[in-house]
Amino acid sequence: MKRWAKRAAFGLIVVSLVGGLLVAGARVAFPPEREAWFGRLLVLAQKADAEYDTLTPAADPESWSELYLLVKEIIYQIEEEGATTQLIRPASVMFADFGPGRRSAVAGTYATADGAIVLNERFLTPAWGDSSWLSTLIHELVHAQGYLVGDSSTLESQTEIVATEVLAAMANLNYPGARAELLDGLRRDALAMAYYIARFGGDPIHTTYTEDMQFSGWNSDPVLMNRLAAARRAILTPTELARSDKRIRWWEERPAEYVQVLGKYVVTTITMELDAACGSGTVAEAFQQAEFLNPQERLTWDGTAWVMQMSATWGSTIELPPLLLDDLAYVLDGLGYC
Ligand SMILES: [Zn+2]
Repeated sequence: MKRWAKRAAFGLIVVSLVGGLLVAGARVAFPPEREAWFGRLLVLAQKADAEYDTLTPAADPESWSELYLLVKEIIYQIEEEGATTQLIRPASVMFADFGPGRRSAVAGTYATADGAIVLNERFLTPAWGDSSWLSTLIHELVHAQGYLVGDSSTLESQTEIVATEVLAAMANLNYPGARAELLDGLRRDALAMAYYIARFGGDPIHTTYTEDMQFSGWNSDPVLMNRLAAARRAILTPTELARSDKRIRWWEERPAEYVQVLGKYVVTTITMELDAACGSGTVAEAFQQAEFLNPQERLTWDGTAWVMQMSATWGSTIELPPLLLDDLAYVLDGLGYC
């Protein structure tokens, strides 16, 4: 269950001049919902960024005991949210080389056969070194509870929405760095969804039960692209902007993947999070998890040593009660957003 890099995917944009050159002809009629969402996303990015700039970013755990306690805190928080019927601790959490291509695209993976959470070792390099891996760890721990059912577009969006609410809960509990991590994610995701609208002519996606978005050509709207470029310059520091622009250029060479990554990890999740947090409070669909069966320890030879691994099978699908986004709503209220 790969998790395409959030932070990696979403830096965003292209300079306004380039956006303008890519557009042929005049501006076509724009669906009102699309334009309204574009405006509210820039407001969200500005509000989240204003407070983010005053906070200390999340620090990564410095010892195995800190990591062990953090993993347990997260798993219990997922359960407290009513988002799992089972508490599954991963067999291990490790860093690894994801190989060419994937090393720039994937932040982490839950390796189901081994029960292991694997994080991209680039978090340990200058390329991603000032990005915390807290939200990636939460995302993979949600997968580990059995968020493995259905199409990638469905299960990844469901996983990410739960992860956001868990991070918001940790922020409200004043877990160190959690609020900064949440606001950083919100500003980046809001800018990324605004990019998706302006660059691909995309629309909000109000359900996770959908197919992957297909790339159907560049449909840049020059007016929105210019507004987005200005917002990005105002919101991101020069260093953040340079890295973000770099990431966007990388993804724009892979438009078919890019549109899918944005669709499932950003657009569906932000749309549904704002629908719920600024609306009824509850996500308007039931999420699914797979039942964890027959966990057994298994002795395997890794080439140099014998290692004990947890092995299990996944059973029938559990329909979960609709998720209440009360913690995210509380944060957004505090920002004066909804
Ligand atoms: Zn995932």
